[in-house]
Amino acid sequence: MTLAMSGQAVESGIAVGQAHIIESRELQIAEYRLDEGAIPAEIERLNLALDAVKAYLESLSAKVIGGAGGSAEEIIRTHIFMVSDDALSQAAKERIHELKCNAEWALQVQLGDLLTQFRQIDDPYIATRADDVVQVVRMIQKFLATGAPAEPITSIEGRLAHTLAVASELTPGDVAALRERGIAGIITEHGSPYSHTAILARSLGIPTVMGVRRAQSLINEGEQLILDGHYGIVLAEPEESIVRHYLSKQAETDRFLQNLESVRDKTARSLDGINITLMANTERSEELQRVRHDGALGVGLYRSEFLFLQGALPDENTQYATYRSAVECLDGGPLVVRTLDIGSDKDIGLTDFSDPGHHPNPAMGLRAVRLCLREREMFKTQLRAILRASAHGDIRCLIPMLTSTQEVLAVRSLMEEVSEELTEAGIAFNRDIPLGGMIEVPAAALAIHELGRHLDFLSIGTNDLIQYALATDRVDESVAHLYEPDHPGIVQLLRQIFRAAQEIEIPLAVCGELAGDRRYTRLLLALGLREFSMQPRSLLEVKQVIRETDISRANAALREWIQSGGGGAENSLVNFLDSAQLDR
Ligand code: PEP
Ligand code: MG
Repeated sequence: MTLAMSGQAVESGIAVGQAHIIESRELQIAEYRLDEGAIPAEIERLNLALDAVKAYLESLSAKVIGGAGGSAEEIIRTHIFMVSDDALSQAAKERIHELKCNAEWALQVQLGDLLTQFRQIDDPYIATRADDVVQVVRMIQKFLATGAPAEPITSIEGRLAHTLAVASELTPGDVAALRERGIAGIITEHGSPYSHTAILARSLGIPTVMGVRRAQSLINEGEQLILDGHYGIVLAEPEESIVRHYLSKQAETDRFLQNLESVRDKTARSLDGINITLMANTERSEELQRVRHDGALGVGLYRSEFLFLQGALPDENTQYATYRSAVECLDGGPLVVRTLDIGSDKDIGLTDFSDPGHHPNPAMGLRAVRLCLREREMFKTQLRAILRASAHGDIRCLIPMLTSTQEVLAVRSLMEEVSEELTEAGIAFNRDIPLGGMIEVPAAALAIHELGRHLDFLSIGTNDLIQYALATDRVDESVAHLYEPDHPGIVQLLRQIFRAAQEIEIPLAVCGELAGDRRYTRLLLALGLREFSMQPRSLLEVKQVIRETDISRANAALREWIQSGGGGAENSLVNFLDSAQLDR
């Protein structure tokens, strides 16, 4: 009998093959005291381990990633950087001196410290950094314990072309090594789609489903498995007819993915002739230089908080230079700079305004624009830098987490103040810089008529909007199954936003993850979306779906779905919209 399991869809694609269970490699970290005289040798032992792990990662990068660049290489590079970073290696050596303990334990104590710092930052992207540090420390500890840096899956011999790895959790290094062996698909019990392991699996194109509860105990070694990375489904011991169905789907998906390159130079125009604007979400300079080549008009979401993660407030000139060089990379294309989106819980070392208060529910606390309006000088510095950079290209300013009209008016008034100061100082800037608002708070979504009147454009942050509307933490894997972008309530909420935006004739984009998830492209087109902003790697996929969509047909199917009260549990809305296109 077929056993169906579900998890988080990480990388599209279908894999069919045999299960291989990868043992968990929980390390026991020994702690022992050292005599003063043994300390130099212990430091030497740590140095050897650091060098060995670094060499291993470098060979992995060259062998597996092949210097091809992109996020895969960048993740391995991040790990290499962390191995030699003073915050880890130097600090661990100091711990050996200070605690007179072995290197494994010194690393463990230092890891604890680093994680405490990371935990204070409630941000999924930063959380991935914490995962990285843990993974790097584990690799070094493993080398110290066994003399073998990281050969996580040597138990699997030969090529794995028809094998699906079933693991508790994997590091990016594990994923790279699995890929070298030609793994067909990956299933893990833990891990979030935001983790670097997930990002690496995506960039290497390995069909992957994460967060499949108890997968290691439910699946037996050698059992036949089907993995559908598009929907996050895993089937064990499937019936023959199901295997046939998936093999034909696999051929279809492979065709879709193979054809992607062919759309690079084509326009994002739907079958019924509607042109769609594609933008990229990025703040990384290498990606900024490529966004036009990847088919984006410009950057629809530049998360400026990345500039603030260095532990100190960047001054006006640093910010100005960064925004300016970003917009200059875009060859005339727009750069939407989102103002600082951190919260009081995110004590990212900005002691200039650290807030010792207790915030029991930080996601709903003093964050983003709320914090900026309290820290007016810091905010004005950012606004001044953005305005100055606007003299050098098409810069637009986007305010995160708006809730009320008062906030918009307060931002406008600060912008006025800053504009006057710049004018008085004779500094050039664009007086008509567009000011946009992110729609992430459900009440703001229901008040577009009111809020939108004071803004030049809107951008829906579906990541937060969905988490708030469904009361489902976007980074809590225990409720990940409740995070449903096509929940009827979310579809209604999005419909209302699109209707209201049309009524007041304000441009509306989506810059949350939904915009780059091709499963939802037809839904967004049917709702009326004409500007998508997404991570660059999704641009071609989404363009391909747009080119294969008749939007009026998608729109009619959506209305039919809503009028009929949904298609019942056996058919999801996204499936329904897909089939409506095939009925042509
Ligand atoms: C969002 O919430 O959808 C969004 C784009 O912002 P962030 O993911 O940075 O919170
Ligand atoms: Mg957000």
